[in-house]
Order: sequence, then structure tokens, then C-alpha cells
Amino acid sequence: MIPAGFEYHRPADLASAVDILRAHGDEARVVAGGHSLIPMMKLRMADLRHLIDLQAIGALKGITIAEGTATLGAMTTQHELIENADLAAAIPLLREAALQIADPQVRYMGTVGGNVANGDPGNDMPGLMQCLDARFELYGAEGTRQVAARDFYEAAYFTARSDLEILTKILIPVPASGTGYAYAKQKRKIGDYATAAAAVLIGSDGASVAMTNLSDTPVWSEEAGTALASGDIEGCVAAMLAAIDPQEDMRGPIAFKKHVAAVILRRAIDSALSRRA
Ligand SMILES: Cc1cc2nc3c(=O)[nH]c(=O)nc-3n(C[C@H](O)[C@H](O)[C@H](O)COP(=O)(O)OP(=O)(O)OC[C@H]3O[C@@H](n4cnc5c(N)ncnc54)[C@H](O)[C@@H]3O)c2cc1C
Repeated sequence: MIPAGFEYHRPADLASAVDILRAHGDEARVVAGGHSLIPMMKLRMADLRHLIDLQAIGALKGITIAEGTATLGAMTTQHELIENADLAAAIPLLREAALQIADPQVRYMGTVGGNVANGDPGNDMPGLMQCLDARFELYGAEGTRQVAARDFYEAAYFTARSDLEILTKILIPVPASGTGYAYAKQKRKIGDYATAAAAVLIGSDGASVAMTNLSDTPVWSEEAGTALASGDIEGCVAAMLAAIDPQEDMRGPIAFKKHVAAVILRRAIDSALSRRA
């Protein structure tokens, strides 16, 4: 419950935030909504001497939709994402998934950027972003670069982001109108991380399928998407079952998780097909 002592920084721009990160190395970490990091600090599983609060950096805020791309500032909260009618109309999959994350209080604070940067395989947005083929913009001492969500996750809590980079934006191609979508999540109760969750898009230009918390990274399977695009639902499920690698934990043994994964994926495919126009 009681975190170790730390120094609090509140820079007003990105360059200052990176300077503080560089000055303190492993002892510093940025904090966004704090709803993954602070719980870890309270358990003393994250021992940090410097917390760099990103809240005052205006460049990390805002949602824009232009030229077929939705751009979410990293500090967009899950609540803001749910409330944005234009975003819900353009990418309803995002809203459907965000409503299944945590609970209202957590969603007032938790940010899209924190959710995808965290690297916890239990987080829902990484798989969602892989399904949507999002790109992540990273700012560091060497400038700005973009990494595809599908290339970002390396292992649990290991991502393509270096310790001195800050995630600034998430860029998401708006799916063609009429694209069927669904985010289906099996969890033990409200606010729980998924036993299995599936993000599905099915449009005239193809299909995309990703799953959450069934491996040490989110799993996007090209083969599963190709099978689904050709109408082969069982082929899609089989490809995804071959791609996941769940581990036994308090959510159940491996065989159970694979069973739930198949059920949830079929459920998401059914809803996505029923919404395809
Ligand atoms: C009770 C509870 C239930 C939850 N249930 C779910 C759930 O069902 N599904 C789900 O997905 N999540 C869930 N969460 C997590 C919640 O959504 C978090 O808020 C989210 O994962 C992290 O976002 P944050 O803004 O709070 O990040 P923080 O906790 O502030 O940061 C998390 C990590 O990301 C890093 N980070 C944050 N922002 C950036 C950035 N811009 N650039 C670089 N690094 C950054 C931080 O340094 C830290 O290491 C739950 C949390 C709680 C407390």
C-alpha cells in the first residue's frame, strides 16, 4: 500500500521530460494515468526514485480524425475515448473495447498511451491496436519515429520503445465504412483482465484478428485474418489457436484458456459478421 519515496517532476514539454529521463536512467519513469504504475509502486514491485508526470504536456492530448486516420494523443483517457462521438462513429471497435476495460474510475485516469506502452499482456488495447493496424509515434533524444503496433511487443513488459522514448501518439487507419467489428472479452468480473479477448474486423478489403492475454504479447495472426477473409471461420480459429501460447495461472489451466479463446473468437466473429454492411 505504501510506495517508497520518490521525487515528482511535472515537465511542460516533451524535450524536458526526455531530459529528466536521461538524467536519472533506470531510476526514472513517466507516469500517465498511474493506474498500472502506481499499483506496482504500492506493492513495491516498481522501485522508482523519480516520477515524471506527463499531464502538463499539451502535445500529448487530443483526438483528431482527418484523411482516413484517427490520431489519439497518448494522454487521451479511456473515458475521453468512449465519450468522443466522432471517434465512436469512425472506429466503433475502439469504444466497444474501451467499455470493457477496468471500471469507470480507472477509465477517468487510465490513458490509451499508458495502456499500450505498459507492455502487460493483460492490457486490452495492444491487441486491439494490432487488429486495427495502428502505428505508435515515439519521441526521444534522437527525434521522432513510428513503430507498427504489430511490431511493438517483444515479451511481457518488453516493447520496441527504448527507456528514453515517450509514446506521443497513436495513429489508426479508419476502417472502410461497412466494416464489421467486434471486441469480445471473457473475464471473471468487471475490472478483471481477460481470460481471453478477441478483436475482429471484417471488411471488403480483408479481415484482421488479434487476441489478448493468451501469450506474453498480444497475438495478431495474419493467417487467421486471411482465413476469415475467405469465409473460413474454422480455419481462422485453428490458425489463432496455433498462434497463442497461454500459460496456466489463476484464470485457469492451459486447456481451459484455449477452449475459452476459441469460444470468444467465434463469438467476436459472429458479431463482426452481423455488423458488416
Ligand atoms: C482495478 C483495475 C482494473 C483494470 N482493468 C483493466 C482491464 O481490464 N484492461 C486493461 O487493459 N487495463 C486494465 N487496467 C489498467 C488500466 O487501464 C491502466 O490505466 C492502463 O493499463 C495504464 O494506463 P495509465 O495511463 O494508467 O498508465 P500508467 O500506470 O501511468 O503507466 C503504465 C506504464 O506505461 C508507461 N507509460 C505511460 N504512458 C507512457 C507514454 N506516453 N510513453 C511511454 N511510457 C508510458 C509508464 O512509465 C508505466 O511503465 C486496470 C487497472 C486497474 C487499477
